[in-house]
Amino acid sequence: MITRAYAAMTANTPLVPYTFERRLLRSHDVALEIKYSGICHSDIHQTREEWGSAIFPMVPGHEIFGEVKQIGAEVTKFSVGDRIGVGVFIDSCGHCLPCLKGLENYCEEGLTTTYNAIERDHKTVALGGYSNNFVVNEKYAVKIPNNLNAIGIAPLLCAGITVYSPLKHWEATAGQKVGIIGFGGLGHMAVKIAKALGCEVSVFSHSAKKESDAKAMGANEFVDSLSLDEFSRKSPNFDLILNTSAASMNLNPYLQMLKLDGALIMVGLSGKPYPIDAWSLVNPRRSIGGSMIGGIPELQEMMNFCGQNNIVSEVEVIDAAYINKAYERTIASDVKYRFVIDASTF
Ligand SMILES: [Zn+2]
Ligand SMILES: [Zn+2]
Repeated sequence: MITRAYAAMTANTPLVPYTFERRLLRSHDVALEIKYSGICHSDIHQTREEWGSAIFPMVPGHEIFGEVKQIGAEVTKFSVGDRIGVGVFIDSCGHCLPCLKGLENYCEEGLTTTYNAIERDHKTVALGGYSNNFVVNEKYAVKIPNNLNAIGIAPLLCAGITVYSPLKHWEATAGQKVGIIGFGGLGHMAVKIAKALGCEVSVFSHSAKKESDAKAMGANEFVDSLSLDEFSRKSPNFDLILNTSAASMNLNPYLQMLKLDGALIMVGLSGKPYPIDAWSLVNPRRSIGGSMIGGIPELQEMMNFCGQNNIVSEVEVIDAAYINKAYERTIASDVKYRFVIDASTF
């Protein structure tokens, strides 16, 4: 199957149009026509080798939404015409304890990511979603509720699950007070999901101009990070705080806002160490934790939840030719709130 894509050929050159051939369908594979493909900040880190050496040519993209066009002989989960989504990984070992529990995202033998990876046959290079079609084992794809607006679906597959999984694991429930640090691609999804779970949501952001958007998406309160210390002293009443920001920061004022047994969960990564005052943890018995995307069962659960609550990402739809410009704007946090590529323009 001939595939039109955009690829990074090296770590320091812009992405360019690229053509290659996807594999023929195996018995459990589905082939999809991609409709929209999200741009995640980690695409930029990987194409530029900011997370270590990478495999080139690299076709990035791990927020893939499309329509099933063809199915393998033994496929049971999908039919031709179904709406389908593929996220951050396309394979895992299948037999370690996390895999057996549906926590493939924590596979002990290591995930096969959707791109910038060698597949488990030890030779095929995985090429991602900045392309017009895709082939994946049905086990690693999810169904997309029909009511969701097509343009806003793709970012749910990485940004959405990244915030949904910790909100569920740390049991954010109706009436709880939840804080969201950062209001970008991850943060705006966290606000929508926490709101739909019935939580009272506070946003902590350094961009005061985002206050009206945050409140329109369901935040009860918007706190400018500049007034954080004062706010922290008078608000020791949070059940859960999710840090979605990639900026390095002092976490201690946030820890001090947690009530007994409250937790601060890291999903955004600054790449730098965070100094923690242990006293902020011991009294009253607070925790700090972390979470990375979610397993396939939870990815499907999140999609169904988003369908029931009509949640999609806020997006700017772009043509493929705009990808390099979109990268610069993503780095500058100049996007409301996620770029998605119209895959018909590849
Ligand atoms: Zn991502
Ligand atoms: Zn495994």
